[in-house]
Amino acid sequence: MFQPKRIIFEKAALEYKTGRDILEYFKDKDIQLIYSKSGRVTQIPEDTASKMYFEGKNTLVVGVRKSYKFQSCKPSAHYQLPLVSGCMGMCEYCYLNTQMGKKPYTKVYVNIDEILNNADKYIEDRLPDATIFEGAATSDPIPVEPYTGNLGRAITHFGKSNNGYFRFVTKFTDVENILNLTHNGRTTVRFSVNTNKIIKQFEHGTPKVEDRIKAAMKVLNAGYNLGFIIAPVFLYPNWEDEYKGIIDKIGSNFINSHISFEIISHRFTKRAKENILTVYPKTILPMEEETRKFKFGQFGYGKYLYKDEEINYMKRFFKENIRKYFNEASINYII
Ligand code: SF4
Repeated sequence: MFQPKRIIFEKAALEYKTGRDILEYFKDKDIQLIYSKSGRVTQIPEDTASKMYFEGKNTLVVGVRKSYKFQSCKPSAHYQLPLVSGCMGMCEYCYLNTQMGKKPYTKVYVNIDEILNNADKYIEDRLPDATIFEGAATSDPIPVEPYTGNLGRAITHFGKSNNGYFRFVTKFTDVENILNLTHNGRTTVRFSVNTNKIIKQFEHGTPKVEDRIKAAMKVLNAGYNLGFIIAPVFLYPNWEDEYKGIIDKIGSNFINSHISFEIISHRFTKRAKENILTVYPKTILPMEEETRKFKFGQFGYGKYLYKDEEINYMKRFFKENIRKYFNEASINYII
């Protein structure tokens, strides 16, 4: 669970029950509580880039979502569902390091009823087709769930929907609050996993893979659709043995279960590399442009991917090993 060092409440957030509940939860704890009339977040200490990053990561903002325009979320869903933005995790490779500015605080939105009502309008617009919403496009929503309840509200909301589906991804294990909800099979929970070496080197502040798998088992037993995202895959010496170890762990725990896989090789942009080096100057993340293939992405900027022959080999490797336990249809994609 995310225990921030400071919480900044937008004044308007306290007009909502969720905002008041969060205040009630933290009011007697040893946490700095700040109230912001304007809603502008100016109270995070500024010093070096690295300090701003770590102070930002220790800050929770409780606010009201003003825009009801949902961003698209291809290819995994139709729209992003804005419940939370930012994350307490400190994964060196995280794309949020580029998206969230110099002080990457976590912000939870308290006007959840309005957000979900708005989701219904998007569903109506796409009828008779189904509409899928992604709850983790700009965050990991699980660490704040014990005191916001936003994820639970979304899960039960879509549980009652005829044409709306919900999905989110997490690396965290505080799943107790969502286990007894009426989801009616309309929510898919995916756990992001990696090898112990990668978790130790790059995924600071996140749980061990064994604990993520235990949490996944609880979620499956609660009747949710379950998936695993193996990402980002790094091709380092001995990577095959270590990723095979992950697949074996999942296979031995979930054989005969209906689960899905998404597998994503590591990639980076020039801008991400610059930002990562500012915050983690001693990082050993592999980001040597000359060893990668450059490709223009859909948003007009280029990414550095592993070379085609490496990706093709990686695809064969994951297909062969996953097929030992699950059928090929369980693999949504390998990129
Ligand atoms: Fe980013 Fe996910 Fe790590 Fe959070 S847990 S820092 S969202 S990669």
